[in-house]
Amino acid sequence: MSSMIIVMSRDALQSDIDGVVERLRSVGSDAHVSVGQTRTVVGAIGEREAIQQIPWEAMPGVERAVPVLRSFKFVSRDFQAEDTVVEVRGVRVGDPTLFVPIAGPCAVESRDQLFRTAEAVKKAGARILRGDAFKPRTSPYAFQGLGEAGLEMLAAAREELDMPFVAEVLDPRDVALVASYADILRVGTRNMANFTLLQEVGRQKKPVQLKRGLTATLEEWLNAAEYIYKEGNHQVIMVERGIRTFETASRNTLDITAVPLLRMLSHLPVIVDPSHSGGKRELVEPLGLAAVAAGADGIMVDVHPTPDTALVDGAQALLPAEWESMMDRVRAVAGAVGRTC
Ligand code: PEP
Ligand code: MN
Repeated sequence: MSSMIIVMSRDALQSDIDGVVERLRSVGSDAHVSVGQTRTVVGAIGEREAIQQIPWEAMPGVERAVPVLRSFKFVSRDFQAEDTVVEVRGVRVGDPTLFVPIAGPCAVESRDQLFRTAEAVKKAGARILRGDAFKPRTSPYAFQGLGEAGLEMLAAAREELDMPFVAEVLDPRDVALVASYADILRVGTRNMANFTLLQEVGRQKKPVQLKRGLTATLEEWLNAAEYIYKEGNHQVIMVERGIRTFETASRNTLDITAVPLLRMLSHLPVIVDPSHSGGKRELVEPLGLAAVAAGADGIMVDVHPTPDTALVDGAQALLPAEWESMMDRVRAVAGAVGRTC
């Protein structure tokens, strides 16, 4: 497989663009048209020989044709220069003037725990609620989540608070179920390279948060995003959540460098999860502020009303009051880098 970007000239006509698309389809290639502010580009993915033999630059309205050499194509910045903005119930993730705080419990444990947390995080500025009904646990004996009952509670919180929610989906067999409730599906760290799950979420109409695998390179992670994108779902949000290194003082090592690098390599929004990165309450705010400063489009933070009784990840959960004071500083840093939240 090979890919090429066909950059149309500023004054290209719609018929010129249609001509390029038809020509690509005639050689069995996929054509992906993206209309930018000043010009349109057509991305082609197909057989190298077939695409390259066409004298693109001789076609009307074509300015130039550039091969994409990276292993990931559609999600690369070469393919689309403009930032992708994922819009969920009026919340815009990926808009460079905005910063999107996401917060909530790691797992839904009860209606009371969920509603107490959701009300508090929203009051302090969260725009999206997090909360999982299916949990990937290291031990098979640990709490696995409430399943569909948890999704029902999340949907009730959404309606009551007018706040979209994101929830993890672990199994390709549960994708339709989770998608029927959640506003955003999440593929977690342990499943980043579960290609059947990626394809299944790629067939849904709901946005997908894609967490970075524990030992995944940026190229592997972007290829995982490519699996989703290629199936037709272009609403992918990348989530850096720390990687496994030799360091044992924190749960994982937040790779802050991934934020500006992803911006260069890809047009997809990127957010940071400082809770699963550090794994400790005291680390959440400094890592979260670093994410804002580094140019992330949002953060996703674990909050729990009583972390000492939490069934999952209590050590990294902020109390609602801690989230509130963190949000004051998040707003200040976001303002310093030209974003509002
Ligand atoms: C989570 O966000 O609750 C979670 C399980 O995270 P990760 O996949 O990053 O470990
Ligand atoms: Mn967790």
